[in-house]
Amino acid sequence: MIDANSFFGKNESGLIPLQPENLMIRDLVESPLKNLRAAAHQAGFELRVESAYRSFDRQLSIWNRKARGELPLLDAEGNPVETPITDEEELAYTILNWSALPGASRHHFGTEIDVVDAASIPADYEVQLIPSECDGMFAPFHQWLDHQIQSGNSFGFDRIFLPGRGKIRPERWHLSHLASARELQKKFAPEGLRDIYRHTDIACKNFLLAHFDALIRDYVYPYFL
Ligand SMILES: [Zn+2]
Repeated sequence: MIDANSFFGKNESGLIPLQPENLMIRDLVESPLKNLRAAAHQAGFELRVESAYRSFDRQLSIWNRKARGELPLLDAEGNPVETPITDEEELAYTILNWSALPGASRHHFGTEIDVVDAASIPADYEVQLIPSECDGMFAPFHQWLDHQIQSGNSFGFDRIFLPGRGKIRPERWHLSHLASARELQKKFAPEGLRDIYRHTDIACKNFLLAHFDALIRDYVYPYFL
């Protein structure tokens, strides 16, 4: 059963280990992912999952470290920005270019995966999950994925962060198992998340609480398909 708190990344029921990546994924997604991986292999690609389920605490850590300048902060085009940013609103929107609000990341569902083609990664290259990789070394893999999705052969996986859908930047590496995600979306209760923020040591807290409704409207609901 899916608990009401699942969306926030604070409840790991229904999650199972994903190998060989040693990540966690929702049980509903295991079999479709196995099929997608096998199809990719047949086409000459090595589908590797870089990120799957992410907990609230992990997303909070990313958020707070970006706010403190301990992780790189990037602008909308993916270029580094000058830190520190002292204005809470400017800082929050800069982090939101490439990181989800803790508790509102679709990765909390366990139905989302960030994928690469491990076969095309040069030696000593560290994957960053940036747009230029999708246009470069992973372009053939993404063209193949587009074709699979368009022809109904992607085992229920689809792209979700597309241009014009909300305020999240397009992320071609991110796939959603839509039917499974919908089960979680139904349980999403923003008031619960607002309450968590009130009691959490989160960067830009005043801004997040003051603009909470607009943030959920722009960064969460446009992707509830
Ligand atoms: Zn992702």
